[in-house]
Parts: sequence; structure tokens; C-alpha cells
Amino acid sequence: MVPHKVGHITNFCTLPFLWSYYTKVFVIIAFIKGTGGAGKLGMKYEGMIIRPPSEARSLLLQISVGCSHNRCTFCSTYKGEQFRIKTFEEIEEDIIEASGYGPIEKIFLCDGDALILPMKKLVPILESINTHIKGVQRIGLYANAKSVLRKTPEELAQLRDLGIGIAYLGMETGNDDILMAIDKGANSRQMVEAGRKIKDVGITLSVTVLLGIGGRTQSEEHALDTARVLTEIDPDYVGALTVMVVPGTPLYEEQLSGRFELPDQFGFLRELEVMIAESDFTDCLFTSNHASNYLPIRARMPHEKEETVRLIRHVIASSNKRMLRPEYMRGL
Ligand code: SF4
Repeated sequence: MVPHKVGHITNFCTLPFLWSYYTKVFVIIAFIKGTGGAGKLGMKYEGMIIRPPSEARSLLLQISVGCSHNRCTFCSTYKGEQFRIKTFEEIEEDIIEASGYGPIEKIFLCDGDALILPMKKLVPILESINTHIKGVQRIGLYANAKSVLRKTPEELAQLRDLGIGIAYLGMETGNDDILMAIDKGANSRQMVEAGRKIKDVGITLSVTVLLGIGGRTQSEEHALDTARVLTEIDPDYVGALTVMVVPGTPLYEEQLSGRFELPDQFGFLRELEVMIAESDFTDCLFTSNHASNYLPIRARMPHEKEETVRLIRHVIASSNKRMLRPEYMRGL
């Protein structure tokens, strides 16, 4: 996934919207409306809420809490949180609440892998959105390989017809040994199958990869296999993030014991360079502008491939850390 934590919903500053003037007004109105005479509290969120950076302007509708997989060794997002699917009544209350906010163009269904919901739960939610909220042009969600592979092409087409316009697939790496080591729950073949399945029904596909997840020892295989698998999937978007080892995760324990060592800053960039240089896309926006990255890139492939590779090589050759995002400005 392409996570961007927006935190626990405790005050206005952590509400899950782009903190622009527009959304600030939008959310404050929603909050005031919600806490008015009826005594409601606006839309309800539980636990940690994350969304992809590109969904910053979307309404976040929480349909499940946590992640049904919750085993990836690098991920701390939902640790200790029990996965549950919200009841239809809870979700519809939020949908009706949001319908009072005015036209909403984009909705993102939270949490970690919303596509895991069975069709009998997902379809009524989408129908309710279409009934109550005006102006919706796209509904997005996180999908892991398992959740995609459980759906038939017909079911995915039905979800597309009901408004699902984009799915974010957390692949992290195309290397099978690393996928197994990080307990991702799928191998590279399944990643390709899941990605192609999404694309084949006409849902926009965004794939996340994780620089550094192979550590120093598997850095090269990680980059090369990821480029190969990305080429096979041929997604519409690729988002590269850089591993930040979070205390409390199994990966942190591995790092403490010396079994896992991150590449240095330029090592991450070498992986990025290889992933871009060795992959082939029909038409893909490749970004590394997430806050975890040392070098923000936003390039349309294949047209800007050579220029992008040249730029990354130039930064690596310079060994100039001032060309990189400073450590204090990095984050998840
Ligand atoms: S699938 Fe893995 S990375 Fe994504 S939320 Fe679940 S545990 Fe975290």
C-alpha cells in the first residue's frame, strides 16, 4: 500500500483530509453539523486511519477497522488492532452524514485492505454511496493480492460499475524470498495475477514498492525483480516509498539483532535507479514523492525514463547529501 498516516481522529488537525483551506472549512462545517442538536459527532473513525497521498482530497469512509492480514514485518500501522468489518448501519450513518457536506468527487474506503470485504457487504455500501452522495466520480480502496484473487473478474467488473475507480496494491518487492521474509502473504506470481486482474476490468491500478526492504544483502535482487514484476503488471501508477524501520515491528527486531541492515541513502537511490531503468511501462506515472523518500521523483513513463535515470545517476555520482531530503523531514 501507499500509506500516509493521518493519525487518530482526536482533533481537527488530525482529521483525514488534505489540510487545505477548502477541506478545513468542509470538515469544520461537518463537525459543527454533527455536534448540533442531534448530539451526533459527525463521521466516525476508529483506530489508525491511513490513505494514499493521492487521496488527500478524498472523503475517507471507514468501512473496516485494521487489516485482515496484519502480518507484514515492516508494518506497525494496525499492530494490536483487531480487524473488524463495520456494520452496514454504522457505515450508512456515515454515508448519510457525508451526503450533507455537498458534492463529493472522490471517496476512499478505509482501512488497510477494504477489498477483502465479501461482495454481499461491499455491494450494498457502494449502492448506498451512489444513492445518497451526489457527484462521486471515483471510489478508491487498498487491495492486497489475496483480496483481489478472491474476487472473480465478474465481481470486480460489478465493483467497477458501482464506482470503484482505483485500487492501491501493496506489492513492496518482486522478489519471492523477500516477499516470504516480510510475510506479505503472496508471491510475485500472485502479485502479477492480482495486478493484471484489476487492470483487465478497467480499474486504475496503483502499485507500491518499498526501497530498502531487501536490506543491504538483497538490494540488487530486490530492485531487479521488482522492475521485472512491475513490467509484467504494467500498472497505471507506481509509488516508491523508502523503508523506515518502526520500533515494535518484527523488522525492528531483525535490525537490532543485526540480521537486517538498511542500505545507505545512496543505496536506496541505486534501487530506485534500477527499478526505473530496468522496467518497461506502456503509460505509467512513477513517483517517489512520499515523505519517506530521499529523492522525490514524479515521472511519466516511458517518455521521461531516460531523463529520470540520468537525474538519479547524477545525484548518486555527486555523493552530495545536500541534494537529498534531510533526515528530519522524512516521515511515514
Ligand atoms: S497488508 Fe501489510 S502493509 Fe498493508 S496494512 Fe496490512 S500489515 Fe500493513
